[in-house]
Amino acid sequence: MRNVYLDYSATTPVKEEVLNEMIPYFTEKFGNPSSLYDKGLESKDAITEARERVASLINASAGEVFFTAGGTESDNWAVFGSAEALKSKGNHIITTKIEHHAMLHSCEFLEKQGYEITYLSIDKDGYISLDELEKAITDKTVLISIMMVNNEIGTVQPIKEACAIAKKHGVLFHTDAVQALGNVEIDVKDLGIDLMSMSSHKIYGPKGTGALYIRKGVRIANYLHGGAQENRKRAGTENLPGIIGFGKAAELSKANFENHVKHCSELRNYLKDRIINEIPDTYVNGTMEHRHPGNLNITFKYIEGESILLLLNQFGISVSTGSACSSTSLNPSHVLTALGVPVEMIHGTIRFTVGDFTTKEDIDYVVENLKTIVSRLRELSPVNSMKGW
Ligand SMILES: *Cc1c(COP(=O)(O)O)cnc(C)c1O
Repeated sequence: MRNVYLDYSATTPVKEEVLNEMIPYFTEKFGNPSSLYDKGLESKDAITEARERVASLINASAGEVFFTAGGTESDNWAVFGSAEALKSKGNHIITTKIEHHAMLHSCEFLEKQGYEITYLSIDKDGYISLDELEKAITDKTVLISIMMVNNEIGTVQPIKEACAIAKKHGVLFHTDAVQALGNVEIDVKDLGIDLMSMSSHKIYGPKGTGALYIRKGVRIANYLHGGAQENRKRAGTENLPGIIGFGKAAELSKANFENHVKHCSELRNYLKDRIINEIPDTYVNGTMEHRHPGNLNITFKYIEGESILLLLNQFGISVSTGSACSSTSLNPSHVLTALGVPVEMIHGTIRFTVGDFTTKEDIDYVVENLKTIVSRLRELSPVNSMKGW
């Protein structure tokens, strides 16, 4: 049986070049980067190079990149670090209804501590309103956090304009760029970002490694306390192989950027066109205009996404419903809810995300199986006969 992985937004395989650079750092090059003998210095130098590679991908200076244990830690650090550092200024944070749970649940935690959080809505295309953003700012606002690219519907937000608004009002601006990294052009200087979360395993690097970009001059409180690692900002012996892998993945991502975007968007568009043209009652969620090149989010009316997922799985095809993080819960996706998709249609939604290893043959295989699965499920569906749905 063929194996087709169409869930690159959940995670990606580690590329061979990445793995090859990592391996020595598990074995002979195992020195603690804080040690002062050659074995330690060798590790320290390797981390410096990885930091430069990540910085180069986003046009930052190496000194502005702080390695973490992934996107989740970076989001938590950005929110809690800003809130703590600016608590004398205020207790209000602005974010959106469509953030990743790493951001939403961190904000909800702060809400319980007495913080006030404004959750911006999105329009039918999936964009926030800059007007709503500016009106939400008060003199108590300490942070604005708007994700660059959404993980479910792939929408790219107007980050540069949102940054300008934040700057005008003297408010810190953070963006969760985990899905954006390697998929849309990111120039932190041009965009005017203060804080930005990144993750390695979404760009063909290893899991458990990420980074927080902290613009020079921006002060936030530390999140992990202990040793003096990461310029005294993030304690804990460095995940050496992970960081080396992230650095290599960032270098490859920069070198392959245009090919990657072209390859993904062509296959994604081909998948979209085939599904929309060959399977009736299917709808794309979110705009196709400013969108993650590999993301396709489709509602199949009258049937359960969960059933589609399980049947596709029997044919060796991996996709996700709405959001990977809610795949074990029955709650309808908060992103599709914010987009205004009716709850019964949310339950019929599948997220397909293509990546560097996806081929046209993979897409054809998926569409052929999907056609059979969808028509079979619809025959069985009790709501099949419902009219005016
Ligand atoms: C995957 C993801 C995260 C979490 O990153 P981890 O490295 O898995 O902790 C955060 N935000 C977004 C948008 C993501 O897609």
